[in-house]
Amino acid sequence: MSNTRSPRRGVLLIVASPSGAGKTSLCRRLMSDHKGLELSVSMTTRGIRPGEVDGRDYNFVSREEFQRLIDADAFLEWADVHGNLYGTPRAPVERALAEGRDVLFDIDWQGARDVAEKCTGDAVRVFIMPPSLAELRRRLITRSQDAEDVIERRVANAKGEIEHCDEFDYVLVNEDFDRSYAELAHIYHAERSARRRNLWVQDYKNALLNEVV
Ligand code: GDP
Ligand code: ADP
Ligand code: 5GP
Repeated sequence: MSNTRSPRRGVLLIVASPSGAGKTSLCRRLMSDHKGLELSVSMTTRGIRPGEVDGRDYNFVSREEFQRLIDADAFLEWADVHGNLYGTPRAPVERALAEGRDVLFDIDWQGARDVAEKCTGDAVRVFIMPPSLAELRRRLITRSQDAEDVIERRVANAKGEIEHCDEFDYVLVNEDFDRSYAELAHIYHAERSARRRNLWVQDYKNALLNEVV
C-alpha cells in the first residue's frame, strides 16, 4: 500500500500531581526518550531554584510581567499554585497543534482542567499519586530545594490536589520510579494510536476495502 500514515493530531499529554510526587522527574525522562515530544515551558512568578535554568524549566517573570501577559491573553491557562502564579503560554501550544506535534505539560489540576476543556479530544490527563503523604514529605525534604515552610505548605495542599484525581483519565502511583515511568510511556504510546487522532485511518481503510485480491 502506498498510503502515507499521516496526518495525526498531536497528543497534549498533561501530567499533574501534588508537589514531590515525582512528575518533573517522570516528565524529564519521557522528554529525553522521545525527541518528538515538546515540553510546554510555563511562566512562573516563583523564584528560581538551584539547578533550574530560565527558559528551560520555566520562564521566570515578575508579577507585573505576568499580569501584563494575562491582560494580553497570552496564556492558554494560568493558576495560583501554592501562592505563586503559573501559566501556560498559548502560542507554542497552538503552533504544535496546527503542526500535529505532541506537547507535554507539567501543570497543576486547575491548569489540567482548563486545557482539557479548551482542547477536548487532544488532551490526555495523567495524575501521579505519592505512595503516602509521609513519603511525599520525605521526597520534598530530600530534594532540598524548598525552605521548610514552603515544604509544609506543599504537603498541606496535597490532599486538596489529590481530591481532584477523579477528573483525570489515568492515575498512577509513583512508588518504584522505573515502573511508573514505564506506565507513563505506555499511556503516551497508546494515546498516539487512538483512532480519533489518526486522520489517515479512513483513507487507509477505504484503500484496503477497494484492494483487488
Ligand atoms: P513541583 O510541584 O515541586 O514541581 O513545584 P513547581 O513549583 O515546579 O510547580 C508548582 C505547581 O504549579 C505544580 O502543581 C505544577 O504542576 C504547577 N504548574 C507549573 N506550571 C504551570 C502552568 O503553566 N499552569 C498551571 N496551571 N500550573 C502549573
Ligand atoms: P514533582 O515535580 O512532582 O514536585 P520531583 O520529580 O521533583 O516531583 O520529585 C520529588 C523528589 O522525589 C525528587 O528528589 C525525586 O528525585 C524524588 N523521586 C521521584 N520519584 C521517586 C520515586 N519513585 N522514588 C523515590 N524518589 C523519587
Ligand atoms: P514548582 O514550583 O514545584 O515547580 O511547581 C509547583 C506546581 O505548579 C506543580 O504542581 C506544577 O505542576 C505547577 N505548574 C507549573 N507550571 C504550571 C502552569 O503553567 N500551569 C499550572 N496550572 N500549573 C503549573
